[in-house]
Amino acid sequence: MCRHLGYVGPPRSVAEVLTGQPHSLLTQSYAPTDMRRGGTVNADGFGAAWSAPDGSMVSYRNAMPMWTDPAVTDVLTQVTSTCVLGAVRSATVGMPIVRTANAPFVDGRFAFSHNGVVAEWPTSMAALAAQIPTEDLMTLEAPTDSASVWALLKVALREHGPGRALRTVATAVDSAAPNSRLNFLLGDGEALYATAVYHSLSVYSDDECVMVASEPLDFRPGWQSVPNRSFVTARIGNVDVQDL
Ligand code: GLN
Repeated sequence: MCRHLGYVGPPRSVAEVLTGQPHSLLTQSYAPTDMRRGGTVNADGFGAAWSAPDGSMVSYRNAMPMWTDPAVTDVLTQVTSTCVLGAVRSATVGMPIVRTANAPFVDGRFAFSHNGVVAEWPTSMAALAAQIPTEDLMTLEAPTDSASVWALLKVALREHGPGRALRTVATAVDSAAPNSRLNFLLGDGEALYATAVYHSLSVYSDDECVMVASEPLDFRPGWQSVPNRSFVTARIGNVDVQDL
């Protein structure tokens, strides 16, 4: 059910972040090891987002499997950033396989990814959707649970800092739609904020960089598994894991 990652650290090429480690996101697109309920491969598209020099998040997404897109090795090797998010998708049954349904979703300095499913979507989110301005609803990027959560999160980001916004939205969706699988990941160029609700999540930290990923990207001992129903704030030199 989708896999995602976030990186904050010294400038690296986007391609290296996505493909450069033994169990990279590219490997996880065709050979994930911890998919839990549902899905065997993540072949319904992928996306990458990175902080540009002006601080805004820029993204590249494609509805094709990551391993078929030459842009990963031809183009994304030429783009470097200190903050990168990546996602590979296994579409939830009934949701469309289109480019715009792929995470990361970006707006200003933020990039967002969702690994999981909102139970009983869209009815379960109807009351929450009332908070979303009509113009945002009418321009929803894709008719999917993840795009709806992103629209809700954008509202929260106008009112709160990123950590509080993500936590508020995760809690609200979790109570509106019990039994949802809500692994959210938000990056703002300097820090990564993530939830683990049902799906696997790990975090890596050393003196130089911090990474959050559905599955550890390599076999270094610095990876720590995040317990279910946790909220993670990760910045260089400081990882904080709390109960959601
Ligand atoms: N439900 C989301 C979608 O279909 C995410 C899918 C997933 O995590 N497998 O886009």
